[in-house]
Amino acid sequence: MVTKNKKLIIAGPCAVESKQNFIKVVDKIYKHVDIIRAGVWKARTSPKDFSGAGNKALGWIKKAQKKYKIPFAIEVGTGKHVELALKHGIRIVWIGARTTCSPFTIQEIAHEAKGEDIEIWIKNPIFSDLKLWCGAIDRLSSNKIKIIHRGFYDENVTKFRNSPRWDLVKKIRSIYSKIPIICDPSHITGNRELIYSTSKKAISLDFDGLMIEVHNNPKIAMSDQNQQITPEKLIEILKRLGLK
Ligand code: PEP
Ligand code: MN
Repeated sequence: MVTKNKKLIIAGPCAVESKQNFIKVVDKIYKHVDIIRAGVWKARTSPKDFSGAGNKALGWIKKAQKKYKIPFAIEVGTGKHVELALKHGIRIVWIGARTTCSPFTIQEIAHEAKGEDIEIWIKNPIFSDLKLWCGAIDRLSSNKIKIIHRGFYDENVTKFRNSPRWDLVKKIRSIYSKIPIICDPSHITGNRELIYSTSKKAISLDFDGLMIEVHNNPKIAMSDQNQQITPEKLIEILKRLGLK
């Protein structure tokens, strides 16, 4: 894929909230990024939390894909999600950290995706279990895949929401040397002030790309408020990283 910047850049809201908000963000970033991420169903820790706009957002994405001529990626957590993505012309999906922990679910997703023109990105599992990450990658390997490092749960208090494990990244790359690897500084840091430095570290380690959460007004975002950045900030960070 020919990228618009020196690395593959994926950006967009943590969750699609309203159609209006979603289009505002897309409109501001589509010229600067390669793929727009947009969470439709959110696997929230608490059932009380906002869990995404759901199925209706698939229609908004389908239309936006056509209008802006840019691919969109959504998170899938079940086989049914894959079926719905395909039905709406969405050909890139990612597997969230919680889902990577569940071999039954990964198997179900693999079954639904097999033979379909759909690319799957596999985030690391919540805990630093390299074998679980490899298991998910192996189960999905009949599709085109990418790997995402989004950091790991850490019982110790650190400056990160999910501690990066660059040592495990090195290991996973040595096992799957031909599979591109993307860094997700948003979920690693949980803090918009650390997005630049963590992205810089990932670039220095020659990651193939970055996935960054962008919201028009992060302070009122319905999920991951502390880590989302504005479209303007995204563009500034890409410039500062020397990627533009
Ligand atoms: C996400 O990318 O929106 C997400 C929920 O991430 P993670 O699975 O890394 O928590
Ligand atoms: Mn998020």
